[in-house]
Amino acid sequence: MALLRLLTRLGMVAAMLVLLAARPAAADDYRVPTHAPACHAATGLATGLDAMRPRAGWTCDDTGWRSDVPAVWLRFEAASWKDGKLPRHFFTRNARFASITFHAIDAGGAVRSLALTEADGEPFAAGPVFRLPLPEITPATRTLIARIEAPHSVPMLTEARITDDPATADWSQIDMMLLAFVMGMLVLPLLFDISFFVVLRERFVVLHAAMVTAMMTYVLTAGGLASAFVTLPVAVMAVLGPLSWAIGVGISALFLASFLERGAQSPMMRQITVATGWFTMIVPGFFALQLHATQRFDDVGYFFAFIPAIIVISAAVIEAALRGSRPARFLAIAWAPIIAASVERLLRGLGWHTGPSSLDQMLYLAVGIEVVVISLAIADRFLALRRERDAALTEAKMLEQLSARDSLTGLMNRRAIEARFEELLVQGFDTFALVDLDRFKAINDVHGHQVGDAALVACASAIRASGDRDAVAVRLGGEEFVVLLRGPRPIERAEALRQAIPMRIAKEVPGLDMPVTASMGVVVLGDAGRQKMTFAEFYARADALMYEAKASGRNRLCYERLTVFRSAPEGRKAEKERAA
Ligand code: GH3
Ligand code: MG
Ligand code: MG
Repeated sequence: MALLRLLTRLGMVAAMLVLLAARPAAADDYRVPTHAPACHAATGLATGLDAMRPRAGWTCDDTGWRSDVPAVWLRFEAASWKDGKLPRHFFTRNARFASITFHAIDAGGAVRSLALTEADGEPFAAGPVFRLPLPEITPATRTLIARIEAPHSVPMLTEARITDDPATADWSQIDMMLLAFVMGMLVLPLLFDISFFVVLRERFVVLHAAMVTAMMTYVLTAGGLASAFVTLPVAVMAVLGPLSWAIGVGISALFLASFLERGAQSPMMRQITVATGWFTMIVPGFFALQLHATQRFDDVGYFFAFIPAIIVISAAVIEAALRGSRPARFLAIAWAPIIAASVERLLRGLGWHTGPSSLDQMLYLAVGIEVVVISLAIADRFLALRRERDAALTEAKMLEQLSARDSLTGLMNRRAIEARFEELLVQGFDTFALVDLDRFKAINDVHGHQVGDAALVACASAIRASGDRDAVAVRLGGEEFVVLLRGPRPIERAEALRQAIPMRIAKEVPGLDMPVTASMGVVVLGDAGRQKMTFAEFYARADALMYEAKASGRNRLCYERLTVFRSAPEGRKAEKERAA
């Protein structure tokens, strides 16, 4: 809860930062004099010189921008540069186009033309911008007309400028620093994802990493940061930006469906979310390619195809939040700025409102915020899953302990000793002392089972030798026990335990008319300690010794020491010593 409240506050601070980032940029884009077209025309002009003279068909304000036409004309007037230097370069936002033809028209009627293609575009070192050279502009030049064939985006028309010095018309350093800062915000979550995935093999971690990678590609290409490192053709930069955005948004929907807890989404909403994810990757992804065949509608197609994603993602997050999902609240905080910024970008992309390209900074910063908040959500989920897993582990451990203990005496049971026998042998427990109470049936018969049980508990206390790290006591079943011993004088120690039994029973179970004694069969592996012997082998030998002890009058200990000679590895040579 405290984390969520903190996040909400951070979100508000971030939103203010976004607005601050956008504000000064909106005032003035570039640091050198640049000249915007005075008029533009989308249709209705013939390609001949006739079109170059001012007449009906030109729009001379900031309305009516369209990219869904075969060609667009831009008209620059000498009035805009008459006091400054003569413009020599044209530059605008990266997007695909077929060709751009410039006509510089002098007062005397002389016309200099220059036809260029996408391949002639030179990307700027900073910013998602490319430039083209202009035909010679002289003091006599009155008008410069640019005819853009098959433009694939509105911003490449609205942001077109001419200037005398393109080198300093890059995006400002602050803009580029902001982009670099956003990239930094994206790198860390990617590292987080890798380490999360090592511990938590969840699908959503992989999807998040894919989403972050797509967003990084977006910031690098759509933001133009990539041009600071490599010079990519205008077409590649122009395609990678929108394509990575479509893939990133599509993966976000898939991430959403897999990240929300089961039950936070209705099955139908889940299906719709996944379908929308694939739709967004495929349809806007296709339009992002800006193929010649789709030029008339790909700009509009691209932007409209995001509407399902915006609606479905918002609805899914709201549904999950209403169902009390904690991850959904993180996602709401993460996605609110990005949805707001993408709606702005969508409207600008459609030409419904115009603004400088630096308004994009809002979207980049929102992307950074989104990725960081979602990483926090994953960390939160990670902790929750680990808490669940720890609880399950504790329970499993408890159950295992329960199943390893004998319920009456609390000693280890047969199952547990058989499982651990090999390990204990390696730890040096090489003496196997089998204990059986003498004529125990009579105790039950005379005093009842309850008294018998109390005697068994007393016997267990006697052989537990608590605190002795060199003795392990086990109840095999009935009134039969085993004590495993390691260290010196095993026979003497076993005998001491055996003699402690009647005393302990007498003390803890009053009213018995005679002492309850015990017999022992003890096998000492001794020198042969390195030799592997199974529990069953020990048990069989100890049982035989027990039989001897019972047969020779009970209340005694029989033992044997096994010695193995290296010269005869296949046959164990046993040297038996007997004691009564
Ligand atoms: P001996 O070993 O000296 O030959 O005689 P014994 O009377 O002890 O013989 P036996 O091993 O045949 O009898 C074991 C008896 O232990 C049988 C059963 O009544 C009793 N017994 C086994 N398990 C329990 C138990 O959990 N509680 C109680 N009260 N008695 C048990
Ligand atoms: Mg017995
Ligand atoms: Mg018995």
